[in-house]
Order: sequence, then structure tokens, then C-alpha cells
Amino acid sequence: MSKTSDKPDTFVTEITPRSQDFARWYTDVIRRAELADYSPVKGCMVIRPYGYAIWELLQQELDRRFKATGHVNAYFPLFIPESLLMKEADHVEGFAPQVAWVTRGGDEDLEERLVVRPTSEAIIGTMYAKWVQSWRDLPILINQWANVVRWEKVTRLFLRTTEFLWQEGHTAHETAEEAEAETRRMLGVYKEVAEDVMAMPVVDGLKTDSEKFAGALRTYSIEALMGDGRALQAGTSHNLGQNFAKAFDISFQARDKSVQHVWGTSWGVSTRLIGALIMTHGDDSGLVLPPRLAPYQVVIVPIPRGNWQETVLPRAQAIQDELAGRGVRVRLDDRDTYTPGWKFAEWEMRGAPLRLEIGPKDIEKAQVVLARRDTREKLPTPIEGLAARIIGLLDEIQGNLFERARQFRDEHTTRTATFEDFKAILDGRPGFVVAAWCGDGDCESAIKAETQATIRNLPFDAPAPDGPCVKCGRPAVATAYFAKAY
Ligand SMILES: [Zn+2]
Repeated sequence: MSKTSDKPDTFVTEITPRSQDFARWYTDVIRRAELADYSPVKGCMVIRPYGYAIWELLQQELDRRFKATGHVNAYFPLFIPESLLMKEADHVEGFAPQVAWVTRGGDEDLEERLVVRPTSEAIIGTMYAKWVQSWRDLPILINQWANVVRWEKVTRLFLRTTEFLWQEGHTAHETAEEAEAETRRMLGVYKEVAEDVMAMPVVDGLKTDSEKFAGALRTYSIEALMGDGRALQAGTSHNLGQNFAKAFDISFQARDKSVQHVWGTSWGVSTRLIGALIMTHGDDSGLVLPPRLAPYQVVIVPIPRGNWQETVLPRAQAIQDELAGRGVRVRLDDRDTYTPGWKFAEWEMRGAPLRLEIGPKDIEKAQVVLARRDTREKLPTPIEGLAARIIGLLDEIQGNLFERARQFRDEHTTRTATFEDFKAILDGRPGFVVAAWCGDGDCESAIKAETQATIRNLPFDAPAPDGPCVKCGRPAVATAYFAKAY
């Protein structure tokens, strides 16, 4: 393929249509948009600069909110001695099959094997035990930005890789009530970032016991619906109760002088969210990025006609400067080795929310042409007042993407009271299936065995069950959201 080709179609055809093969479409988009690539290390991916820029924006949005809710960042070791991981029985059982071991350092066998952290409760709990003596030392509100390793047999870029990037918050509190409030508060932060920043509507609720974090009392999650009708767990927040405090002996002298164990929480989101972003908004032409996470919110493409470098380019540069000065992430694509048509297709495929075209004719008319990625509208726009118009449009695009995703989610959410219907829905048109559930884990696994659907969560705002359990007919205790999930 010639890089100076002027046919946008050449690019589109490189991406498998979503409707034809969603999984291939997903991988094509990631590789064509240069978000990530496979690496020589099995199970590990390389996050390329454009993908990493999205992660940095997401990090900033999360980090700002963590700090606004009183948290601070710290860093703990990558390695965890085997004996520490073994201290919390459920935790070990949950993570053991996925753990990577270090047995040698240099040319010596280690006296004690080390695990590469799959999560950091064990190492952080050990340190908290040293740091906490009195109720005056509480709460501890620490977050860590880190990589973790969970051995995977299958690799899916951003969704399932042996090493991935995430944040993990770990907090310790004086009372059970405080820990519960913290667990819910951080789930709320995740929901806000998912909906307001990623433009991805989520269902927040309680995980069932079979799906909760290994060693937790309760796990809450936010669940999103992807473009193929499968659900994706986008973030979790765990109330650890006193399980880890007891295992690691994190105790303190209470206000009444008695010795108590702290109440813990942990919560995390990962680079998996980038996978969710792609699958929520992308289309057959590639990536569609919400403005708040777009590395370039506006890409300016000058039209090279006549002596454009003396006429068009300075105007384009002036617009770039003005937009940058107003806080807009803007890129002037003035490469003369590519045609405008190539650039249009390229930036469309890479999901830039707005393209700004400017040529000699536009300058004559004191206008530019703006092209929206979400609606594909082309909008001739006066240069006078351009920055304000663009900032307004970016907000409009952000809102439109959220509405579109919410509408899709609502159209793919079906209530049912019978198991026949339940199965038929999952066969035909996947999405969330809302049904009454008896609360029995065996019933839950029978449903999973028969339909592959799992309970994503028991939503906070779900109505009370309006009939018996959809599977077994016994009295229902909750309304559950079921789906096939990533
Ligand atoms: Zn049941």
C-alpha cells in the first residue's frame, strides 16, 4: 500500500468489520491505531505511545479524584516472599494458579521463593502492621500505581495479558462502617470516571460470593456492556473486613484502650479499561475516542493548494496556538509526505474527535471545516470565535457518545421471569439479562453451566425481585444482572 494513496477506503478495509468478527475487529483496531502490539514475551504486550497517552489521561483523571478524596500515592516492592502470600488462606487459593515465581537470583537459588505480585495485599498488609499502633494512626489511605503479573494462557491485548498496569488502593480504618463507606466511595469514583470521562455507562452493584475477590468480605463492581453485547467488569472495590488485618496482624490500640484489628479495603482499575473504551465506542472505521481521553482532541489538516506554506500553514499554526492556549489537545498534521485524504482516513481510524480542515478557499471565506468523528458531520465554521465553538463541540461529542452508549446498553438489557426466555435471549441478542435470583451459589453455577452467563452484579438500584428465582423457582432474594462476560 502506498503511503501517499488518497483513498480512505484502503484503510478501512484493513479493519475487519465489527459485525463480521468482533474479536478480529478489536485486534485490528488496536494494531492499526498503534495502541499496542504483541511482544516477544508470551502473554505480554507493548503499549505504544498513542495507547500509553490514553492511559496517562485516564491515570490523571483517576489520580486527581483519589487525591481529592484524601488518598496519597506510595510504592511497594514487586516481589512478595512466599511466606507472606500464604498468610491469608482464601487469598492464596484464589491467586496461586496465576502466580509467577522467582527461584533464583544471579547464580544462587533463593532460600525463600518470591512471587511477582499478582496484587499487593500481602506486602502492603505487612507494612501496615508495622506502621499502625494507635487509632491515631488511622485511617491509612494509600494508592499505588504499578504493574502486576497474573499468568495467562490466552493473550488478548489490554483485556488479558500476563503483565498489566493498574492502580491498587489499600486502606485501613478504625471501624467497619468507615471501611464500608470507603469501599463504596471508591466504587463511586470509578463510576464517575467511567461515565464522565470514558463516556461509558456502567451498572454499579454487589458481586455474588462466587465472584468476589479472594479474601474479601464483599466486592462491589462496575459493569459495562461492550459493542458485541458482552459485559466487562470495569472496576472493583473490596471491603476486606478484618480478614487481612487478622492474617497480617494489623492491630491498634483503640480509643477505649482495647487492642483491635483494622478494617481494610482495596480497590483497583487497570489498563483493561482501554479495551473497554475501544469496545464501547469503536466502529467499522476504527477507534472513536471520547474527547476527555483523546490524546489529540483536534487534528488540523491543512489543504496544500498553491503556495499553502505561506498562506494556509500560518493560519493553521495560529489556530493551533490559540487552541493549545485554551487547553485543547491539538495536533497540526503538516506532514507533506501524506495527502489530506490519507490524513483524514488516518485520524478517523485513530479516533480523533474533531478534524479541522483549512485550505485557501476556506481562508477566503474566513472559515474552516470541522468534521466530527462521532456523527461524521462536516461543519463549515467561521474562524471568528472558533476556539469557543470547538470547546463547545468537544463537550457535545463527549455527551453524545455517552448517550449513544447508554441507549445501546438499554436496548440490550432485557428483563425476564422464565428460564426458557432467559436462554433464548442469550442465544439471540446478547446483553444484560435482568432476572430474579434465589441467592444460592449452586443455582448460579447451574445457570452458568447451561448458558455461559454469569451474574455480573446485584445492582444497587435494581428493583426488588418481582417473582421467584428465574432458574429454580425458589423465593428470590435479589434482582441480578446476568451476561456473558469478558
Ligand atoms: Zn435459584
